[in-house]
Amino acid sequence: PFDVLVVGGGPAGASAAIYAARKGIRTGLVAERFGGQVLDTMAIENLISVPYTEGPKLAAALEEHLGGYEADVLKGQHATALHPAGDDGLHRVEFENGGELSARNVVLATGARWRTMGVPGEDEYRNKGVTFCPHCDGPLFKGKRVAVIGGGNSGVEAAIDLAGLVGHVTLVEFLDEMRADAVLQRKLRSLDNVDVILGARTTEVLGDGSQVTGLTYEDRASGESHTLELQGVFVQIGLLPNTEWLKDTVELSERGEIVVDDKGRTNVPGVFGAGDATTVPFKQIVVAMGAGSTAALSAFDHLIRTSAP
Ligand code: FAD
Repeated sequence: PFDVLVVGGGPAGASAAIYAARKGIRTGLVAERFGGQVLDTMAIENLISVPYTEGPKLAAALEEHLGGYEADVLKGQHATALHPAGDDGLHRVEFENGGELSARNVVLATGARWRTMGVPGEDEYRNKGVTFCPHCDGPLFKGKRVAVIGGGNSGVEAAIDLAGLVGHVTLVEFLDEMRADAVLQRKLRSLDNVDVILGARTTEVLGDGSQVTGLTYEDRASGESHTLELQGVFVQIGLLPNTEWLKDTVELSERGEIVVDDKGRTNVPGVFGAGDATTVPFKQIVVAMGAGSTAALSAFDHLIRTSAP
């Protein structure tokens, strides 16, 4: 069995595995896609001390860094169940291919995925104007016109944030009212370069073949179609944690996030969580890396307290 088994190979998982392996304990990492969301990212400009990198380059660097240590890395494995430890002190993780691994400590770092609109053009213009991360890509749209899709807290926060960076923001909400906190809505309404369109179903992202040029939406009350000319579309309709496989074993929040404390501990002793899959309030690479190291150090702490002398 492993002393620490990390499930997930994004920034959180890679960081957890490196920290665990550096303790000289038996470490394993299993991941469906090593690199995680980073693989889908173009420019990364906020990984502190690395002024500019690109997703695939960062994913390769994570793998190279981990490769310098004694850790078993298993790729292309989809975890389907976690069975918490019984008397033998070993947690078991089951995989889609029928395999199973056991470990004294498990770090859950399966990340998240953005909810998409599922309209024509969204996929085609991803990273060519369609983006899901205002913290990451806001500065790329300096002075331009953008839309934010979604009037929940994340959409309204994004619109307020972007209003200070870009030329103009149109917030498009499907429902007849925004669901964001009232204080955020008041702040948004006070900004003079922001328009809000309610009761609008986005129907298509328009582009010229290489870049976004606009979007169309349907006014849900009248059924009329309208076009907005703009260069960026920030989709903010939810982040879905990859935790469906954990719902019977660890405590999850209402949104399905793994509930962790400030040491990365879940409600199951010996099971830790890190990164976008957890209740951590900010979903960013540098945050995920810090959380991965926290979870691994907590796992090590747990190991030395629970293993026989
Ligand atoms: P992830 O990166 O999501 O990795 C999850 C890992 O778990 C993957 O290896 C996945 O294959 C694996 N996995 C999932 N389910 C299972 C399972 N059941 N079994 C086995 N393995 C599983 N952040 C920034 O800081 N700066 C940026 O510029 C930036 N740009 C972004 C651009 C885009 C397009 C996107 C989508 C995100 C961006 N982010 C950015 C956010 C950043 O990528 C995430 O915060 C970060 O990747 C989270 O790391 P993580 O390790 O928690 O999860």
